[in-house]
Amino acid sequence: MRKKIVAGNWKMNMEYTAGVSLFSEVINMVRDEVRGDQEVVVCPPSIFLHSLGVLAAQQQNVNIGGQNCHQKESGAYTGEISAAMIKSVAAEYVILGHSERRQYFGETNELLAEKTNVSLKAGLKPIFCIGETLEERNSGAHFDIISAQLAEGVFHLDAESFANVVLAYEPVWAIGTGVTASPEQAQEIHAFIRKQIEERYGDAVAANTTILYGGSCNPKNAPELFAQADIDGGLIGGASLKSRDFTDIVKVFNS
Ligand code: PEP
Repeated sequence: MRKKIVAGNWKMNMEYTAGVSLFSEVINMVRDEVRGDQEVVVCPPSIFLHSLGVLAAQQQNVNIGGQNCHQKESGAYTGEISAAMIKSVAAEYVILGHSERRQYFGETNELLAEKTNVSLKAGLKPIFCIGETLEERNSGAHFDIISAQLAEGVFHLDAESFANVVLAYEPVWAIGTGVTASPEQAQEIHAFIRKQIEERYGDAVAANTTILYGGSCNPKNAPELFAQADIDGGLIGGASLKSRDFTDIVKVFNS
């Protein structure tokens, strides 16, 4: 059966000492809370990954991930970080296609397909983000947008590779805005995503794919969201910066 995951995306927040303290707190607070089919993932700024990786190694079912990687395996790309580098500091995951990367750094589905390939080759599991803008939702284009993001970003993979991909539905209008998709709105899209996976890869793969919800998720709204049939956890931005809020979201699985 598919994994339940709560993943924190710290974005470009915090400095080193505060980051190590926050992660240590999270590890301590979830110690007895994470069951075998559940996983907690923290994606800090890449410069903290090595230190957090050492801490994560002490706790089963707590892992770390990068927030991005370059699309090439290595080379003359000053300032960039490769998937293999992220993997080499004990990370298991990498977020790809976050809407901030799509919006501010011009990342396209085509580029993200390349990033997906290098990540999988390096042994990282992509947390591949998809989702529509408010304009796209209001014009009724959201299903087409999500179909295209899947088709162009990850559906070129064979079933064996796709099994290592986690999807995150993040409506852009809900990210960092305090506006959350209603459980019904989120479930509608998650069911649609699972159907698309089923059409591409079949029932078994669709049933085993973890699909996270992201967008102003917090300890108050997480219970209703995570209770939906096709929502397997969350990708958490703002609330992942507070150990209590983040771990309260993790605990939702067992409440
Ligand atoms: C995110 O950036 O992935 C996110 C979901 O942010 P927030 O929880 O702050 O809306």
